[in-house]
Amino acid sequence: MTVTDLPAPPTPAQQLDQAERQAAEELAAIIAAAVAAGITGAALLAIIAALIGATRRAAQTGWAVGTQLAHRASAGQRVGRSAYFAEPLPTSVDADVVAVVVDAAQRIDAARTGQPAGGVPVTPATPEVELARFQRRMVRLAITKIHQAASAATYSYARWLGMDLEWVTRRDGKACAVCAGLNGVRVGPGQKFTPPRGRGVPRRLWAGFQGLPPSHPNCRCRCIPREPRPRT
Ligand SMILES: [Zn+2]
Repeated sequence: MTVTDLPAPPTPAQQLDQAERQAAEELAAIIAAAVAAGITGAALLAIIAALIGATRRAAQTGWAVGTQLAHRASAGQRVGRSAYFAEPLPTSVDADVVAVVVDAAQRIDAARTGQPAGGVPVTPATPEVELARFQRRMVRLAITKIHQAASAATYSYARWLGMDLEWVTRRDGKACAVCAGLNGVRVGPGQKFTPPRGRGVPRRLWAGFQGLPPSHPNCRCRCIPREPRPRT
């Protein structure tokens, strides 16, 4: 067997896609098992730890991909002198999962009993509809965490290596005004991106956006380390 017989190693983008699919499958399996005996708020509350575990694993994969990306781009060069420290995610996995699960548990109980639950009013939604919505929110959260972790890792290593960062949007031309405005923007080592202003850019940006991709849920933008430009 020669080297050319081997499949090409997955690109970082493919690895992130794979992490998304894996997280979606894992979350679906955990949720399906939990509600097998009935869709109740208590059933969801009982799986908070399992959901946190799955979401953390997803974020760790994102972190590993983001680290690899920075290493690859740097080609072993280190031009900066900053100490390494890991950039935290904008919001913690645990707190985000708990918020989504508690809200969904209340919605499901309100739908099931026809009584308001924990500040959640009764809506026409059935428990099944609320459960499907919950699953979508969990998957979306895991995807956000994968990409937040990938960016935090790339940012942390680029800062340590002394490299610039460039914002790169997905190539299918579907970027929102915020991301389109940031595409191609470069910042120096340790700096973050400032959101653009102007037409189409909402005044209040998503709270999860703190200067690194993703700029909104389901954003697939990335930051890529670049050779530092000479500065005067
Ligand atoms: Zn984006």
